[in-house]
Amino acid sequence: MAKKYVYLFSEGDSSMRDLLGGKGANLAEMTNLGFPVPQGFTITTQACIRYYEEGELICNDILEEIDEKLTQIEQITGKKFGDSKNPLLVSVRSGARASMPGMMDTILNLGINDEVVKGFAALTGNPRFAYDSYRRFIQMFSDVVMELPKSTFERIIDDLKAEKGITSDGEFTADDFIKLVELFKQYYKEQLNEDFPQQPKQQLIAAVKAVFRSWDNPRAVVYRRMNDIPHDWGTAVNVQAMVFGNSGDESGTGVAFTRNPSTGEKALYGEFLMNAQGEDVVAGIRTPNPIAKLEQTNPQVYKQFVEISTNLERYFKDMQDLEFTIERGKLYILQTRNGKRTAQAAVRIAVELVEEGLCTKEEALMKIDPKQLDDLLHPTFAASELKKRTPIASGLAASPGAAVGKIAFTAEEAKKRAMAGEKVLLVRLETSPEDIEGINSAEGILTARGGMTSHAAVVARGMGRCCVAGCGDLVIDEEAKTATIHGVTYGPNDVLSLNGSTGYIYEGAIPTVEPEVGGQFKVIMDWANEVRRLKVRTNADTPEEAKTAVEFGAEGIGLCRTEHMFFEEGRIQPMREMILADNKEDRKKALAKILPMQRDDFKAIYEVMQDLPVTIRFLDPPLHEFLPQKEEDMKAVAKEMGITVAAVKDKVAALHEVNPMLGHRGCRLAITYPEIAEMQTRAIIEAAVEVREEKGYNILPEIMIPLVGDVKELRYVKDVVVRTAEAVMEEKGVKVSYEVGTMIEVPRAALLADEIAKEAEFFSFGTNDLTQMTFGFSRDDVAKFLDDYYEKQIFESDPFARVDQKGVGKLVKMATELGRSARPDIKLGVCGEHGGDPSSVEFFNLVGLDYVSCSPFRVPIARLAAAQAAIKQSK
Ligand code: ADP
Ligand code: MG
Ligand code: MG
Repeated sequence: MAKKYVYLFSEGDSSMRDLLGGKGANLAEMTNLGFPVPQGFTITTQACIRYYEEGELICNDILEEIDEKLTQIEQITGKKFGDSKNPLLVSVRSGARASMPGMMDTILNLGINDEVVKGFAALTGNPRFAYDSYRRFIQMFSDVVMELPKSTFERIIDDLKAEKGITSDGEFTADDFIKLVELFKQYYKEQLNEDFPQQPKQQLIAAVKAVFRSWDNPRAVVYRRMNDIPHDWGTAVNVQAMVFGNSGDESGTGVAFTRNPSTGEKALYGEFLMNAQGEDVVAGIRTPNPIAKLEQTNPQVYKQFVEISTNLERYFKDMQDLEFTIERGKLYILQTRNGKRTAQAAVRIAVELVEEGLCTKEEALMKIDPKQLDDLLHPTFAASELKKRTPIASGLAASPGAAVGKIAFTAEEAKKRAMAGEKVLLVRLETSPEDIEGINSAEGILTARGGMTSHAAVVARGMGRCCVAGCGDLVIDEEAKTATIHGVTYGPNDVLSLNGSTGYIYEGAIPTVEPEVGGQFKVIMDWANEVRRLKVRTNADTPEEAKTAVEFGAEGIGLCRTEHMFFEEGRIQPMREMILADNKEDRKKALAKILPMQRDDFKAIYEVMQDLPVTIRFLDPPLHEFLPQKEEDMKAVAKEMGITVAAVKDKVAALHEVNPMLGHRGCRLAITYPEIAEMQTRAIIEAAVEVREEKGYNILPEIMIPLVGDVKELRYVKDVVVRTAEAVMEEKGVKVSYEVGTMIEVPRAALLADEIAKEAEFFSFGTNDLTQMTFGFSRDDVAKFLDDYYEKQIFESDPFARVDQKGVGKLVKMATELGRSARPDIKLGVCGEHGGDPSSVEFFNLVGLDYVSCSPFRVPIARLAAAQAAIKQSK
């Protein structure tokens, strides 16, 4: 049988999400459940993929299937597509596997034309409504399919309003809409040199193609990259019989969540508008009513809606985001999906769904996006401080959190100042999609206009950025760079504090407090611990970082970078002396100064970690990073070493490397200067002995040799370590355990992992360098051309943020297998940026590593991601 590309809603169900997209699958499921859904059909994601494969064409067999299903919908509805007496009008709606809200546009009222509109007017006895529907269709079709600017249509509407001296669309008469239709068609013809298409079939196919094309629009591409959605999924298209919320005062349209998407509170939350269509509710043309008011407007419909939404939530076992339309008193459900929510709401809803018996712990864990947890881990305003302050104004609490910063008046300015290290708030009249990067760079967003569903609010919530929207008391002059609130004027250097959880705005900076990781957050984290196999460690170079990480549940340190310790005040000088020394004696003298500092650093970290393992990496970076560049620094070194400044300059020049990332760094340093390895070993072991004696902790230092590509490199450094460690323990008369292992970050090490494992008690995959060297991309320069790679669809994501499973992942997998074949009990972990990236964590779990290590604030993310990985694997 030929492959099927088009399904009636009654032929699908919610398990067919990959094929029908989220919207289509749920429309099908609701149809099966007997809910009032206007009928229609779904053109599958496979059809979209074929459309691209065949050079952006819809082939005949699919066109025939569409025809066939359209006929069936005509039979079901008793209406006819393109018929002027009893016309079937449809909506054309995109819907990918993962919901991509607002990414692709919907076309309503398709099938209308100059003839049909007349019949439609006669049939409904409501010409005003008929021509309103027609002009809306022309607007949407022109925008989505033909890419004519929306704003021109808005301007034509505004001009007519001005001409008539009216202010709202509601005041337009039927004749006004007839006139708008004419004006719109004229404009269309002027711009495109062709008449507005009158053939309904032609309209339909053009619209379907436009949805397929929209899969590839820049907004969608960026959204996919930010949300790990593969490009090759494609989108489905839903063609659905129209119901009309704009057909009179008994009609309306609305959106609702079954729980509050901002706080998670269990209560119906939403908005509706009577005599309105589609996006009117969110477009801000009229002020919508809170959903509770529907109980007065139409108690019957309200009751039915509450019932349906409760059922849908029970059925899908999650908070639902519903769209509905009322047509002359009859309720229709147009969409349901698991609703987007803030991190705070996500945690609360997950815990409460389990408490209510609606789902299991495992199911609940799968409902939280690990990346979102980040939002919960950031500071809020100190309650005690907040009490002392009086807000200068308030707006809508659009996205929770606390933000303090100076005022930036444009997105560009926000981005620039943030890059220069300033903390800024983006303060604007309202935001638009072009402001995305500015929103991302800002600590928080404040707008004068717009509601809970305004662009700023939606985007900020998605990014976990604090946002106060629609502050009516705020007057902004972008040119003059001033923001005035109740007569007080603030400029680019003034600091404001925003509370996104209450909507209050304060003058000056309010101190923030660290987040509290208790309550429902802790419940989720405990559940995560019950199911995950992969351990989570942290990358920490200081006791403070280690402490934060342990509070977040880190089970050890996976990477302690010793070089960071050398950059501190008072340390860099002996380090420079060590590097510039030209004989072993001088080098040893300099190292002797460093030893006690390094030992104390380790002691402080051990004391935080107690009995948890600590992986310490030997000095790794290119030495020149430490060298003096400024004249005064050179003088200081010269003086201390008793040499001339000129001699220092010569040495600095001699150490210059053309390609330092591939230069004298990593274990190569210890091979040239074994005294460095000796000093570091001594510091590590002495600290372990002392902490054991002073505090009784059983410290297990894991000494990690970086940048190994050949087993002989490792063996050489390891010999130094073992010799020194034994000597130290001999001196102290105490034995402590320690391990020696290596990083796998040079591709050659991955290829020869079995040989290397003979000498290594553990491997830690340094996936940053491994990515750099596998691709041959410089970590520090790749950003300059990655955008071109995205644009030309060579890459979908940044391989330094999300591990490249195909190539780099293959090396990890191979090294894991080779390593275990040579040493079955070898400990395996990852210590790159990837250790805190959920999709990478899933991969590392699958490969069978023992742990991932990530920065302290990402520990909870990794814990949840590891739990989700285990749940997925067990299925
Ligand atoms: P999005 O994915 O952006 O939410 P939708 O496809 O859900 O886009 O369409 C947006 C809105 O258009 C819906 O919320 C609904 O109000 C309206 N709409 C879509 N299809 C129909 C239809 N068949 N009848 C009436 N209104 C519709
Ligand atoms: Mg929708
Ligand atoms: Mg490295």
